[in-house]
Amino acid sequence: MNLIVLGAPGSGKGTQAAKLTKRFGIPAVSTGDIFRANIAKGTALGKEAKGYMDRGELVPDAIVIAIALDRIDEADCRAGFLLDGFPRTTEQADALGAHLAAAGRAIDKVLLMEVPTEELVRRITGRRVCGACGASYHVTDIPPAREGLCDVCGGALQRRDDDAEETVRNRIEVYNENTAPLAAYYEKKNLLARIGTETAGPDAVFAEIVKALGG
Ligand code: AMP
Repeated sequence: MNLIVLGAPGSGKGTQAAKLTKRFGIPAVSTGDIFRANIAKGTALGKEAKGYMDRGELVPDAIVIAIALDRIDEADCRAGFLLDGFPRTTEQADALGAHLAAAGRAIDKVLLMEVPTEELVRRITGRRVCGACGASYHVTDIPPAREGLCDVCGGALQRRDDDAEETVRNRIEVYNENTAPLAAYYEKKNLLARIGTETAGPDAVFAEIVKALGG
């Protein structure tokens, strides 16, 4: 099963990707996580990506495409994968499609997470992430048992550098301009499933996703 989770920042892509990984045993590939890991390690790739990320802009296609395609060629992605945050432009989607086709593979389903803009801003500005294990929280919606500390590993919770309100609004604009057109792109290929328009919490959204996948 080769899946794409498509949606604006704050639409719950990461949360649903984690649930899908658990249920179906396929790895989640997040280009954002790959960049953040490289920034933490101080690699050349991390240094190059950081400026774009801090401004809420897209990292150039050539860089992202090389990284994402290399990652889905790894052994653990052979039986299936879930892309979270890639593709984000038509160029990236074209490159992904061509790369998979050349290997006799294809995308099976694209899950579009639809959430109104003000709700996106509310969710992201309240988001907190564990610096140690990456578990995700929200100051009011999903508070940790002990303030500022991760329930899973006890690590310190942090706000992502690009989750400040001004950067968030720019990221949503960038999404609407560059990534939203991918809905029509995959709809034409009969791969799109729209998720979340009539549901509320993460579990209800996940149930809708499982239904869309025929499960
Ligand atoms: P995310 O964690 O998916 O919200 O990604 C965080 C940031 O990483 C984005 O705002 C971009 O700057 C960069 N990024 C991640 N994935 C991509 C992509 N597919 N294309 C371009 N930039 C990306």
